[in-house]
Amino acid sequence: MNLQAPDSALVDDLVAANQILFDQGVLDAFGHVSARHDKDPSRFLLARNMAPGQVTAGDILQFAHDGTPLDAGDRRVYLERFIHGAIYRARPDVMAVVHSHSPSVVPFSVSRRAQLRPVCHMSGFLGAGAPLFEIRDTAGDASDLLVRDDRLGTALAASLGGASFVLMRGHGSTTVAPTLKLVVYRAVYAEVNAKLQMQALQLGEPEYLTDAEARAAMDSTEGQVERPWALWKEAARKRRGG
Ligand SMILES: [Zn+2]
Repeated sequence: MNLQAPDSALVDDLVAANQILFDQGVLDAFGHVSARHDKDPSRFLLARNMAPGQVTAGDILQFAHDGTPLDAGDRRVYLERFIHGAIYRARPDVMAVVHSHSPSVVPFSVSRRAQLRPVCHMSGFLGAGAPLFEIRDTAGDASDLLVRDDRLGTALAASLGGASFVLMRGHGSTTVAPTLKLVVYRAVYAEVNAKLQMQALQLGEPEYLTDAEARAAMDSTEGQVERPWALWKEAARKRRGG
């Protein structure tokens, strides 16, 4: 198979994204982050099956949109890679995807009453809505809740629609963005927002950002994505003792 090598700077950023998301508590031993291939939009880059905090450049593999590994050899791949491929196929604007089980978000995936909504300017991207993926609608009532094939990935992408974030009932969430740095930012602040919203709910009825406020806040905060990226990358490097 004729595989084009991705830009090494993209691979380096994807490694950094793995380290940052572990360091910021968005990923633990599980969850993953991917990027669309910079030279072939029909492929995406994702680490082999391993803990994100330990990923290096040599662990980054190429996949087709249907989840087929293209250069894995005998290396194991993530069971839920179908999340990424189905979204890249459905959303040409998406260049990066994070799938996470971050703990403050999960309660919003199972609550019958509370909806995840932006409580502060840093999470304006949630103003476009946080739709819910109910895996039971596709997989029936005895699944393990994992997106383990392309059919389930396609159903998840349909639930995401045009939003930046989708809750996955009893499981976690998936975040998308037009750049790798932005998807890291959004995944971190989705977790922050969930924590803040739970605290606000304990105090009483929160006042959420309006749709227009969320859009305006998103435009101003996301234009500064280089600042948190540089800080978080340095913090992750120090943690590893590098
Ligand atoms: Zn998962």
